[in-house]
Amino acid sequence: MEDVSKYFDGGQTIANYRLTLEVVDGEFLVFLGPSGCGKTTALRLIAGLEQPSEGVIYFDDERVDGRSPSSRNVAMVFQNYALYPHMTVAENIGYPLRVRGVPPDERDRKVEEVTTLLHIEDQVGKKPAALSGGQRQRVALARAIIREPSVFLLDEPLSNLDAKLRQEMRVELKRLQNELDITTVYVTHNQEEAMSMADRVVVMNRGTIQQVAPPQELYERPRTAWVARFIGSPPMNLFEGTRRNGSIDFGEAGAVELDDVLRVGDTVDDEGSTAAPGDGDTASVVTSDVQGEVALGVRPEDLTITTSRPTAGNVIEGRVDTVEPLGEYVLVNVTVNDQLVNAKLADGTVSRDERVYLTFDDDDAYLYDENGELVN
Ligand code: ATP
Repeated sequence: MEDVSKYFDGGQTIANYRLTLEVVDGEFLVFLGPSGCGKTTALRLIAGLEQPSEGVIYFDDERVDGRSPSSRNVAMVFQNYALYPHMTVAENIGYPLRVRGVPPDERDRKVEEVTTLLHIEDQVGKKPAALSGGQRQRVALARAIIREPSVFLLDEPLSNLDAKLRQEMRVELKRLQNELDITTVYVTHNQEEAMSMADRVVVMNRGTIQQVAPPQELYERPRTAWVARFIGSPPMNLFEGTRRNGSIDFGEAGAVELDDVLRVGDTVDDEGSTAAPGDGDTASVVTSDVQGEVALGVRPEDLTITTSRPTAGNVIEGRVDTVEPLGEYVLVNVTVNDQLVNAKLADGTVSRDERVYLTFDDDDAYLYDENGELVN
């Protein structure tokens, strides 16, 4: 997609704004973002169900915008997939081939192949009404796969399933995609789903692409404050303060000295993009001279809480708001200035309204400038 925008209502609704994106052959790409951010519209543009208001879409080197969905050889599976109720599973799955005039023998062979692949070979004689939700979902996928599309487009295909089944189907879909090696674009607002299945995630907000990265990189280097606040459960805390030289001032909550907030072990290549620790062996350090309004990001799992003021290190003062024992860990909500932040603790030895001190390592800090861009 090159600079693709999509407007509705005579330009009043901007569903997609200047999307530029290359989907790699055979990859599993996931569009992730909150409701209404334009994920489905982007997928419909790829499918040809919508035409861009501006911009160009290519499949390989061929320009496809303006072309019909049927000429693009894509298969799309929606949340509310419709199976033909009067047809058996085998007839439903074989239907796209029947329409194409594929002879019955070959059709049967192909149906057998895809039903085996999806573990529904025992269901082929049944009508959709006699199937479970997960089986129906598989039939819908099988019907899409049998067409051997060049691109597989999936729009929240698992959201009608219960949690356990969704988990199973996630694994299955990923396996299937690996086996078939088919370029797949998948839309979801479910972060766990995106992170567990994607080769790369496209994070969207208000019609625009915020970041495109593999799941791990998205977690380790959220490029904007918006992505930082969106990824993780609970997501990263962003302390709003003012930076003067190396010090960040948080008013009554204190100040921290951060001369260099690049995480130890990060390496910087020639293009200035960073790689994860361990990816390279030379580490050069960049110190940002960003001043003024900033946000300091620290993940809940990287914060430590003490009740007496530490004498050294980075300290931010706050007051305990709530303590939630969640079994695996204790989630403590702390009010810092008028902001609520989260800390994940192994045990909760603090209580409501108690004055506490949040500490963290330089290595775990992220710095965002006044425009919300990552500067370290
Ligand atoms: P969800 O996760 O809720 O499905 P989404 O991220 O898929 O949301 P879209 O369905 O792409 O978002 O919608 C993006 C924006 O475009 C929304 O504001 C939506 O109301 C608007 N929109 C989408 N389709 C149309 C249409 N046909 N006519 C007018 N506005 C539309």
